This record gives sequence, structure tokens and C-alpha cells, in this order.
Amino acid sequence: MTALLDMTLPQLKELMQSWGEPAFRAVQITQGLARGEAPCEIKNIPQSLRRRLEECPLGGAKIHKKLVSADGTRKYLFMLEDGNIVEGVLMRYNYGNTVCISTQVGCAMGCTFCASTLEGKVRDLMPGEMLSEVLCVNRDAVQSGIGKVTNIVLMGSGEPLDNMDNVVAFLHLVNAPEGINIGMRNISLSTCGLVDKIYALAELHLGITLSVSLHAPNDEIRRRTMPVARAYSMQQLLEAARHYIKATGRRVIFEYTLIKGINDSRENAAELAGRLRGMQCHVNLIALNKVDERQLDSAEPVKMSVFEKTLRQHNISCSVRKERGSDIAGACGQLRRRYLKEGEEST
Ligand code: SAH
Repeated sequence: MTALLDMTLPQLKELMQSWGEPAFRAVQITQGLARGEAPCEIKNIPQSLRRRLEECPLGGAKIHKKLVSADGTRKYLFMLEDGNIVEGVLMRYNYGNTVCISTQVGCAMGCTFCASTLEGKVRDLMPGEMLSEVLCVNRDAVQSGIGKVTNIVLMGSGEPLDNMDNVVAFLHLVNAPEGINIGMRNISLSTCGLVDKIYALAELHLGITLSVSLHAPNDEIRRRTMPVARAYSMQQLLEAARHYIKATGRRVIFEYTLIKGINDSRENAAELAGRLRGMQCHVNLIALNKVDERQLDSAEPVKMSVFEKTLRQHNISCSVRKERGSDIAGACGQLRRRYLKEGEEST
């Protein structure tokens, strides 16, 4: 049986019908689940129905551990029903609350600077599991007086376009008017650059923002840290990004993590600017979060500002991403990893 959190409203209505329940129960259940409630907590449906729902697979995530940073950032370890662990983050901005969620357990992409991929991919997340990450954080944020989740970024562990069908199903679930109803314009999807899937995504005209993890100004440097760069050249990737911009009318965000001695020189910035010239895009510069298992360091702050200035001089819109929550755990899959390696006590 399809898990309850994976079901669209029409599917849930069909289930209600098959149980001899009125269709409006499906709306009540969707609304209850959207508040982050378990079926047994949904008070406005009959107890007999609650009991019946309790016997169905839910397909959700539960907050297993929460860490709150001095800057208000919250990091979560979620436990899935099969015992797998994924992580998510809530970041507070003046425009709202952004939740960063995982799309896979582990990752198959193998980027050398990333902790999520150290042991490969365990499995894809189901749509309802991704939805559940958002709903758990939303409930926690509302209960803590922070307010609702307003934005979502698919930038946690995993490669969203390597799990595209489930991710697209999730996007429709999280956008459903009867559910938590987060606008597509408030959602960003980040990819390491699966070119074919970028074209497929553009066809769907979802209205989400596409972020592309570039991290290099040319193929030679990109191949040093990102195995995906061997499958697709930067030229192919930038062409796909241009296509996405044209097809959707939305600018693309390029993520560029600055790694000491690899991609952080003024020349690298100038070369990058040349390749992005005339594109409707924005470059997000990110300091590398050091991963214990890797011999890579973050660029010096002065190098980062020279890089930023050089892009600006070439009229490339860019900003340096502010580091958040660094007092509570390393980012980018490191929280889960620490949990798996050392056990619960140390996280
Ligand atoms: N697989 C997707 C989304 C997950 S990673 C992607 O590659 O875009 C989200 C972002 O964090 C990516 O830009 C990724 O390259 C970056 N990232 C991963 N590990 C990092 C680290 N240790 N320091 C800084 N950024 C990192």
C-alpha cells in the first residue's frame, strides 16, 4: 500500500471512498498531516478512522535530534521508518524561515569536498519522507514561536536530480493548497549538474529556482573535485543552464565553494566571469566547510573577497554566503556522518 504521506489528495480521497468515508475526510487528513500531526493526533476525524489510519504505513520522518545554534539556526537529524538517518537545517532570515532538506540517504555523486557522499548512496528518499522533513521542522518552528517555514532548499544530502521522480512528486505535495502549500517560487533545487535532467526539469515549468554547483571555472579544475564533470563538460552544463533560463524566465544560481589552492585565484574568478558573461545568473560564493576525511581547506578570507571583487568588476552578480550554525556542527552531511561514526552521544 502507498504510504499516507506519499499520497496526493485525489489518492487519499480514493482511499476514503474505498473505506466508505466521505471525501472531505481526505482534506482533513491532509491538513492534519500538514500540521505535522500523526494520524492519531488529528482531532477532527472520528476515532475509528484514526485507528484505521494508524494501521497504514505513514512513510514519514521523525526528529531524532535537534541542535540549536546561537544564531538561531537549527539542525535536525531525522530518523526514517527503516532506521536510516538524514539531516536538515532551519535557517532564519529576515524574509522568512528556510528549511534545507535531504533528498537521498547518502549520495552517489562523489564530490571530493562533500561528506554526504563518503560512503555512497544508501537509497532515494520517497516524496512523503521529504515532505515529512519539512512538516516536522515546520511544526517545531511553530511550536517554538519562530513561525512557519516559508522557503525550502533541496541542498541537504543527496542529488535531487538523481531522484527526480520522487523529488517532483514531493514538490507537488508540498505545494498542494490543502497541505502546507509552499509556493514553487519559494523553493530552490540544487544540482551538481546532471545535464539531461536539467533539460527535463525545464520542461516541467515548475517555477522553482535552479541552483547549479559549479565550483570551478573550467573542466580541468572541475574534474579534480567533481566526478560528474567527467560525464558532462562545463560547456554542456552552461548550455543547459542557459536553456533553463530561457525556458522558465528565471535566473539560475551558481554555487561556487572556494577551496584553497584549487579554485580560489583571481585568474579563476576572471575565467569564470568570462564563461558566465551575459547570463541571467547570480553566483553564490561559499567558504568550504572542512570535512575531516578530506585534505581540502577553505580559501583564505582575503582570497574570497578578491574573488568576489573580480566577479563584480566583470559585472557578475554575486554574494558570499554567510556561514550559519557553525557552533553546532559541520554542515553538508557532517552531522549525520558524525552520528553514524561515533554514535548518538557525540552529536
Ligand atoms: N547534490 C546537490 C545538492 C546537495 S549539496 C548539489 O551538488 O548541488 C548542496 C551544496 O553544498 C552544493 O553546492 C555542494 O557542492 C555544497 N557542498 C557540499 N559539501 C560542501 C562543503 N564541505 N563545503 C561547502 N559546500 C559544500
